Amino acid sequence: MNLPRGYISYNQVKLYQICPQKYYYTYVEKIPAPINDKVFLGMVFHAVAEHFLKERIAGREQTKDSVLQVFDDKFLSLQDDYDIVWVMPSADVEKRGLAFVKHFLREIANAIDPLMVEEELEVELPGLGIKLKGIIDLVEKDFSITDFKTTTTKWTKEKINNSYLQMVIYKYLFEKSFGDVITQLKFRIVYAKGASNIRNQLVSRNACDFDIDKMFGVLKYVTENISSGVFYKNESFFCGYCEHLDRCQKASSVQTP
Ligand code: SF4
Repeated sequence: MNLPRGYISYNQVKLYQICPQKYYYTYVEKIPAPINDKVFLGMVFHAVAEHFLKERIAGREQTKDSVLQVFDDKFLSLQDDYDIVWVMPSADVEKRGLAFVKHFLREIANAIDPLMVEEELEVELPGLGIKLKGIIDLVEKDFSITDFKTTTTKWTKEKINNSYLQMVIYKYLFEKSFGDVITQLKFRIVYAKGASNIRNQLVSRNACDFDIDKMFGVLKYVTENISSGVFYKNESFFCGYCEHLDRCQKASSVQTP
């Protein structure tokens, strides 16, 4: 099957589901697009959590100040890798990020017993002839999988339900690589609009409650459409945040469904 990256991933599926034409601009045309400061902050937070948890696995001691220093270093160095649209002043974004990391250290870190961090896995999907790839934020020693999210508000039930495909994909990747051991699938969401009143939400579900057949159905539908060149505009409120809006308004659909 002909896929632009040679594999499918949750991020690709999510983007295709939001808008096939946006998928086309991003993965087929590879048109570079800036990221907003919230997405950037999420990347920095992930990089800090990864560093912290890998150091814990290695048994190296870390102080609050050393972790905050890692945040400052990553916040600066990662700016070289991305074209960022600063909606808020960068100093305010940095303050919010530091508050997120302090909250993580105070409220979340002690409860984590890491086994694997940022583990990249790839398996061949039987019957579909394609590779499925993913990077799992955290697998703990109780064989639970966690994905960290940073956002402005608490996730709704609808948002949680719509996001669980990501965790089912991670469970599938892990179990095909290491055996059927996964117990829980968790989202750990750190949220606040600014640098104060930081909260976190833990959403946890039993791993066996999820339907792998359903996951296969979604992956089959999306990959067959991509392979056949089915890319159409799916106009929605997401267009207001779309970095390809100007280009899209001047273009017709690449292909209608
Ligand atoms: S502007 Fe809307 S329809 Fe166009 S590519 Fe972006 S999300 Fe899709």
